[in-house]
Amino acid sequence: MSNDVPVLELRALEKHFSASSGLYDTVKQHLTREKPSFVRAVDGVNMRLEENQVQGVIGESGCGKTTLLRTLIGLYKPTDGKLLFHGEPVSEFTKEEWKEFRRRVQIVFQDPFNSLDPKFSVRRTLAEPLEIHNIDYDRDRIEETLESVGLTPAEKYLSRFPNQLSGGEKQRVAIARGLITEPDVILADEPASMLDVSTQAEILNLLNRLTDEFGVSMVYISHDLSTVSYICNKINVMYLGRIVEEAPTKQLLSNPKHPYTKALIQSIPIPDPHYERERAAIGGEPGDPINMPNGCRFKNRCPERMGVCDSTPHDIELADYEDHTVACHLYYDHVAQTMGKTQ
Ligand code: SF4
Repeated sequence: MSNDVPVLELRALEKHFSASSGLYDTVKQHLTREKPSFVRAVDGVNMRLEENQVQGVIGESGCGKTTLLRTLIGLYKPTDGKLLFHGEPVSEFTKEEWKEFRRRVQIVFQDPFNSLDPKFSVRRTLAEPLEIHNIDYDRDRIEETLESVGLTPAEKYLSRFPNQLSGGEKQRVAIARGLITEPDVILADEPASMLDVSTQAEILNLLNRLTDEFGVSMVYISHDLSTVSYICNKINVMYLGRIVEEAPTKQLLSNPKHPYTKALIQSIPIPDPHYERERAAIGGEPGDPINMPNGCRFKNRCPERMGVCDSTPHDIELADYEDHTVACHLYYDHVAQTMGKTQ
């Protein structure tokens, strides 16, 4: 297969959930002929994850990034759009291909305190995925993987249980469990956010080193732009179910286009009490993912809002925006729709 085929590719991927809360809503909708409503958690996302690339997805809580990650790992079935793994649509995978996909795409969860089975020793935690995937192994393979995540000497950790490990050690075990099947992709769900600050830095440095050493690609989601920009080559900014801006990390930080990205950058704390920076005027709450407004989804919070921002994205031609000083949501919406239709 040619090298320009991405490891993972999302084309106009959607994941919507029914907003009705049970039988009462269903009966009411039937009687009143109301249309059922949906939470559009992921609403037309395009993304390409190339080999050895670390891509971040950044956004506020509720923007859809966790749903996106769960859809990528196969925990949720997409409502529409395509997910391709090495160019092959996962929706057409056989049972065996799904099993192989699960070996080659691993996830590291946010909460190391609950993601390890308390009844499993470290040795058993690492042996289990190898046994599930019928991979031959010996004690050396487990010890080498533990040492690669900094748990040295490995022998000291093999018979420990999660309650005998610190938060940082638990997360290292979770990362080792993700790596031991030699995956192509790690999906990382804010893996450092529940740890203390010094341990966070250790885990980020570890992930940085491992992606280089193991040649694994990674999607790293977080609400914290400083950690995402530390670890990722490329960043996708997500707002209300859509990617509103994507760019290589340096470019995104030095020349953000979307007003939401600008606000996120300006909210990164600077550890210098003498330095005062202008704060972006981003107030209010994200909109309702059930009742999306016409036009730009960010318009009620945007300091650069214009009259045209109330138009529906479908009415906007890209040409109208090429010399626009604000490369705004409409532009990205247009690109997203065009990519979704043409690829
Ligand atoms: Fe702001 Fe308008 Fe761009 Fe939306 S489309 S981000 S409201 S300038």
